[in-house]
Amino acid sequence: METIFERIIARKLPATILLEDEFVIVIQDIYPKAPHHYLIISKKAVPSLQQMDHQDLEIYMPKMIMAAQNIAKKLGVEDYRLIVNNGPDAGQTVFHLHIHFLAGRTMGENFA
Ligand code: 5GP
Repeated sequence: METIFERIIARKLPATILLEDEFVIVIQDIYPKAPHHYLIISKKAVPSLQQMDHQDLEIYMPKMIMAAQNIAKKLGVEDYRLIVNNGPDAGQTVFHLHIHFLAGRTMGENFA
């Protein structure tokens, strides 16, 4: 079954897209936890970070991290937080690899 993010990539579901290339798509989170909350989504639908094989990691991770740099440049922010939730106990709800990009407010130290 397709993930929500595959449906967004295929334009079957609407989303506010900030950036897109061959490897990643960056969309606004529908329930933002900060003034700037984007999702950096790999175009390959791997369910979680832990399930990415090394070859995919080598391809996708640099692209996803570069996307974070590009988001910051585009928004004109210097400070931001990146988060990957791996698995349900870590808070993952969409099982398609993505990195949260959060900015625009002071972040606490509390990760709980
Ligand atoms: P996770 O909890 O898996 O780390 O993150 C999934 C994120 O996807 C959540 O922050 C949630 O708000 C966001 N999300 C879930 N469904 C949609 C959707 O249909 N559109 C967008 N733009 N974001 C979504």
